[in-house]
Formats: sequence, structure tokens, C-alpha cells
Amino acid sequence: MLIDSHCHLDLPAFDEDRDAVLTRAKKGGVGALIVPAVDRHNWDAVTALAGQRQGVRIGTALGLHPCFTHQAEDIEALAERLASQPELVAVGECGLDAVSGAAPMPEQLRLCEAQLALARQHQLPVILHVRKAHNEMLTLLARHPLLAGGVVHGFSGSLVQAQQYWRRGFHLGVGGVITYPRANKTRQALAQVPVEALLLETDSPDMPLNGYQGQRNEPARVASVLTVLAELRQCDAPALGHQLTLNAERLFFLP
Ligand SMILES: [Zn+2]
Repeated sequence: MLIDSHCHLDLPAFDEDRDAVLTRAKKGGVGALIVPAVDRHNWDAVTALAGQRQGVRIGTALGLHPCFTHQAEDIEALAERLASQPELVAVGECGLDAVSGAAPMPEQLRLCEAQLALARQHQLPVILHVRKAHNEMLTLLARHPLLAGGVVHGFSGSLVQAQQYWRRGFHLGVGGVITYPRANKTRQALAQVPVEALLLETDSPDMPLNGYQGQRNEPARVASVLTVLAELRQCDAPALGHQLTLNAERLFFLP
């Protein structure tokens, strides 16, 4: 049983065939998914997915993504949701994006900091989106240590950065990036960090795997990510999959 630790199943891209996508995931060995939110407008859609569907367990997270625009009162609204929705398994996704963030970096930092504080208050892990801002994020995490830790989803960075996150209790989400040979730095990093630091993800419907460019990604493909990761780490795929499932269980499903 595998866990897709990052998948946007609430998006309209899945409106036509959401149950079929889940059935394929189940057949492909996926037993659970984590669905994070990106802004206040999709919190209800994400919340509606929590629980069990087509035999797949769905854990949900609410947050404010750095690539979307938010209002000052959205943080207050998030605080209310976290207090009233005990089923939530994380805060996210939130983070810093120096490439296509919707707001200037100081504003992104404030928004992210507020969400880290909420996560600490509710003892929840955090799902982070970090693009070209690893140093800023690591500085933020040093100021806001989180007991429940979290994950840097779709990790793309160096071994040193990966080790720094892991030392702060942050896992690294391994997705379709590693199926592209040109992502050499990230492939090397994820081949060398401790196995306990890794989680599998697809980021569906985005981040298609090599060979599927231009197509909608879906949770069943997490099995192919596992195959490539096992090749990179030169280990047995089923045993690796078992360990990565344990990692995700511990982070999201065990309080
Ligand atoms: Zn995402």
C-alpha cells in the first residue's frame, strides 16, 4: 500500500472522473492520499474529500499557497477552520516562491510565518511549497521550530539543502521530477538522504512524469515514482515503498 502525499484531487481537472481516478489509484496500490488546499476558495472542496472514497483513505490539509493572492482576513479564517475541523492532517500548502509567487517576498514571508505559527498551535505538520527560496525557508524554520515537522513537497534542491530540512524535522516529497535525467542534482540528493526523510507524491494533476508530458497526472503514477527512486537508491522497490508509507503514516495519520 502506497501513499500519495500530495495530490490536488479537488481541482476541476478531476470533476469528470474523480471516482475512476481513485479506483485506478487503488488498483495501482495506493491506499491513501493527502489533499492540500491552495486558497480560501478551495477549502470547502478539499474538506468535502476527507475520509474514505473508493477504498482510498483521504487526508486533507488547509492553507494559503504563495502563488495565490490572499486577503489579510484569510489567516483568521484559517485559524477558525483549524479550530473547528479536527479531521485536518496538516496545514498547507503554504511556503515561499521566488519564481511565480503572487506577492513580494516580505509579504510571502509574513503569510508563511503566520501559518507556521498556526501549525505549531495545533500541533500539525506543515506542507511546504518552496521554489528558489530554500535559504529563506530554512531561516524561517530555524525561527519557528515545529515539533510535528512537515514536508517540503516536490523537493527540488541539493543534498545539503535536503539534509538541512531533515535536521529540522522536514521530510522531502519525491515526485515526478526524479523521472527526468536532467534533474541530476535532485536525483543525487534524494538518492543519498536517509530513507526516513522521504515521502512519495504526484502533485496531480500537475508534474507529469517523464514520458507523460502534456497529460494530466494522477495518483496511480506514484508507483512509477517509487520504481525510479528504488533504481536511484539501488534498493528493492517493495521494501522502499513500505518504508515510505510508514513515513507518511507517521507524519500525517498518527497524532
Ligand atoms: Zn501542490
